Amino acid sequence: MATHTFMQTTTARRQLVNITGEVKRAVREVGLASGICLVSVPHCTCAVYVNENESGLVADTLSLVGRLVRGQEWQHDRIDDNASAHLGAVLVGNSVTLPVEGGEPCLGAWQSIMLLELDGPRERRVNVTVVGD
Ligand code: ZN
Repeated sequence: MATHTFMQTTTARRQLVNITGEVKRAVREVGLASGICLVSVPHCTCAVYVNENESGLVADTLSLVGRLVRGQEWQHDRIDDNASAHLGAVLVGNSVTLPVEGGEPCLGAWQSIMLLELDGPRERRVNVTVVGD
């Protein structure tokens, strides 16, 4: 098992970033040919998921998460006014797990690994942990 970490800069309050290329590079650097790859973010206001990186769907995803969590009164807003960012991250989750074959994470033709920023702009850490041999 080994972990490789990279930093991802986000440039907007709410934003989707395709991190597939960086994750593939990290898996290659770990150097295990087959196993399981865990992509995780050690943050409370961003998330990761796997889906298509199509501009309409990117806008739809930001719209959906925004509609579910924004425009409401949340108790956490008494502390630092970013409850909607936390709650969006709760809904989407902070990790994805993928099989690794031939030293690459297995993704379908239309799948990308997406980082969902909900409280940017920030510097985000992405951990890529590979278990295998
Ligand atoms: Zn907060």
